[in-house]
Order: sequence, then structure tokens, then C-alpha cells
Amino acid sequence: MKVYSTTDIGRKRHTNQDFIFTSEGPTGNLPNLFVVADGMGGHNAGDFASRYGVSVFVETVRRDKNFNPVKIMRNGIEAANREVLKQSRSDPAMAGMGTTMVVCTVVGGYAYIANVGDSRLYLADDNAITQITQDHSLIAEMVRLGELTPEQGRNHPDKNIITRAVGTSDEIRIDFFDIRVTEGNQILMCSDGLSNMVEDRRIHEILRDKGTKDKARALVDEANANGGRDNIAVIVIES
Ligand code: CA
Repeated sequence: MKVYSTTDIGRKRHTNQDFIFTSEGPTGNLPNLFVVADGMGGHNAGDFASRYGVSVFVETVRRDKNFNPVKIMRNGIEAANREVLKQSRSDPAMAGMGTTMVVCTVVGGYAYIANVGDSRLYLADDNAITQITQDHSLIAEMVRLGELTPEQGRNHPDKNIITRAVGTSDEIRIDFFDIRVTEGNQILMCSDGLSNMVEDRRIHEILRDKGTKDKARALVDEANANGGRDNIAVIVIES
């Protein structure tokens, strides 16, 4: 396994509300663990939400005695949801904050994935790049319902409205996916600061470019070259 990861403030924002966690070694009973979180909320609430949400998630995974990766990820995200919500209710300056969270662990040729929000996980091979997660955003749901075309969705002004987040309500709905990962596959996890700024086709080209030393940095550079309108978080896992 080879991992590239980085997060960047971008060109327009004054704070970086994206947060990542990567561990190629064990975290609790998981053999490896990768998380991308994109916080929302005013002042310092957004960056607190992503950082704190991930730290509660990782600590919960560390203490979890379960062996089922789906159960472990669920317990971790539910704990993060409770704790971020508790903070948001106890401090008026933090009211309404929340964070996206996409989580991945690779166990015995399979990647187990959990997702809340509009950060993404893609699987890439030589031929194609495929988005595995579904965006929990208003616009993505309208595209899925056929109310907007994918092209209309891509540049829609309401694109940043998300329909699910960690830390915004007592109930949390988490999507789970498991995918076969074979040699030469690449997993890309990212915030919308990448996926809104760089087309999937171009992301795929960069991932497949054998001359690129640090693929996470190369993707961030491309997002910034295209305007860098948002914070950018990227994890690339090569198996
Ligand atoms: Ca973002």
C-alpha cells in the first residue's frame, strides 16, 4: 500500500475547514484507516467540527472491541455525531456546525467505506474512474431524481447545500459500501474543493500519470490552478 495525502487552504478561503486522518498501520481492530472531513459553520466552528469529529471518530475506533469493519465505522461516526452535536448545542457560537465524513479501511482485498455528506471516494483503474459514494447534497439528489441534468448540477449556485452531515441532528443516516480492490487500483478520497474544481476525467489522468511523484499534491495543484475556490483535501491509496 502506498498513500499520498494532503490538505490545502486553496486560493480564496481564509481558514481551512478540511481535515484528514491517515494511518497505514492499525487503529484499534482496523488494519488501516483513512478519513476525509469537510467542516461547515461560521467563525472557527467549521474547522472545529471537522477536526473534533475526526478525533472522536478515531478515538472511538481505537477503543472498539468489535471486528466487523462496518460496525466499527458505524460506532465511530455515531459517536462523532453525538459529540459534535453536544458541542454545537452548548456553545451559541458553534450552533449549526457540522462536518462531512468519508471513511475507508482496506481489509483483505476489500475496501469498506462509510459516508455522510458530499465528500467523495472514487475507485480508479487503468480504464476508468468511478465515484463509489453518493453525494448527500440537494443538487446531487435533484440530479438523481432527474430534475436537473448532471451538467446543470455541476455549476449550480446551490451546490454547497448538503442534506446530511455529522453533528447536525440526533439521528444520522450513514451510507456503507464495500468494493473489491485489486493490484494497481487506486482509491481517491477528497473534499468537494477537489471535485468541484477538477473534472473526473482530469483527476483520472493525474492518478494514472506514472511520472507524478506525489499524486495528492498534484491534484491539489490542479484545483488551485483552476481557481482554488474552496479548501482541498485529498487522500490517494494505491494497492
Ligand atoms: Ca468544502
